[in-house]
Amino acid sequence: MEYNIALLKGDGIGPEIVDSAVAVLEKTAEKFGHKFNFTPYLIGGCAIDAAGEPLPKETVDGCLASDSVLLGAVGGPKWDDMPGDKRPEKALLGIRSALGLFTNLRPAKLYPALRSASPLKDEIVGEGFDIMIVRELTGGIYFGERGYRQGKFGEEAFDTEAYSITEIKRIGRVAFETAMKRNKRVVSIDKANVLETSRLWRKIMHELAKEYPDVQYSDMLVDNAAMQLVRDPRQFDVIVTSNMFGDILSDEASQITGSIGMLASASLGDTTRGMYEPIHGSAPDIAGQDKANPIATVLSAAMMLRYSFGLADEADAIENAVDRVLEKGFRTADIVGDSGAAAIGCAAMTEKILGEL
Ligand code: NAD
Repeated sequence: MEYNIALLKGDGIGPEIVDSAVAVLEKTAEKFGHKFNFTPYLIGGCAIDAAGEPLPKETVDGCLASDSVLLGAVGGPKWDDMPGDKRPEKALLGIRSALGLFTNLRPAKLYPALRSASPLKDEIVGEGFDIMIVRELTGGIYFGERGYRQGKFGEEAFDTEAYSITEIKRIGRVAFETAMKRNKRVVSIDKANVLETSRLWRKIMHELAKEYPDVQYSDMLVDNAAMQLVRDPRQFDVIVTSNMFGDILSDEASQITGSIGMLASASLGDTTRGMYEPIHGSAPDIAGQDKANPIATVLSAAMMLRYSFGLADEADAIENAVDRVLEKGFRTADIVGDSGAAAIGCAAMTEKILGEL
């Protein structure tokens, strides 16, 4: 099979980790007889420098014309003082919206080999956990009406949360379908004791749950969920939640796995074209020093093969190669923990993964 992949390397460690994932994709293509064509486009700070805006039209058009998109990370101190709508991070909301990506899939998996990297106690972690967070990505308070106005105490700022039945239904369906391919459990997280949007969210999720009798469904309030994630993460299989709650909880879930450099994500819409990216940022503190962990981006590329191209065996091959590298004890600096391993760099880690492929 032949696929066109748009590369958005971005800023900081973005170029290093995307190059690593491209090497892994190329080796996978060679092994399984596919052809991947890669075209780079500018996004984030580097796009501001070169084209005066974080998301040039050429980038959006290029992504729309490709079969899928692989993103590194954007942002850095150089652009921190730019006004809100000119900041590199603005490009992320823009590209998700332009590609109609309303779902964010974020696996939070604790690898047995990295058990000691988790800040949670052994008895809580057990043999590890594997949570899939399904976050709504293009609605809710991040996209609602906002502004400044005169309020009871003078000038005030406001943001608005709104969710339509259509938006809730489509994200709910993704969660139930995902659960059917996993351990058939869905927890929907909301704040239905306070928020009207959450009450509608809960009502629609209950209706959907009836269509999936094989899935064990429950609701949880977001404050309780934040506690339960650290108290007993193994209780979760699939979590579905709104944009803002998902933003916060998925960072918490990633933290309990012990390494931000290990976690992939997929953003999906109605078509097979998705955008795949590590959950971490551009790590300006280690950029250009060959210290970045490329695994989150490599695993994002594996998710692309699985979810956009339906190449499950190829995705498995990449994930198994990563497992073997970790089991053999190879570690980048961020996941050395108390393993006693000598840290290897981004390039060496890439070579190890290629070797296992
Ligand atoms: P960050 O994720 O970039 O870094 C947090 C810490 O984790 C740093 O110490 C960093 O060195 C480390 N780290 C992150 N990824 C790593 C990797 N692959 N290997 C090894 N160590 C890694 O978060 P931050 O410092 O809060 O943000 C830095 C910049 O990234 C900011 O401009 C922020 O806006 C941007 N950002 C971008 C995205 C994105 O592009 N999706 C997401 C989050 C933050």
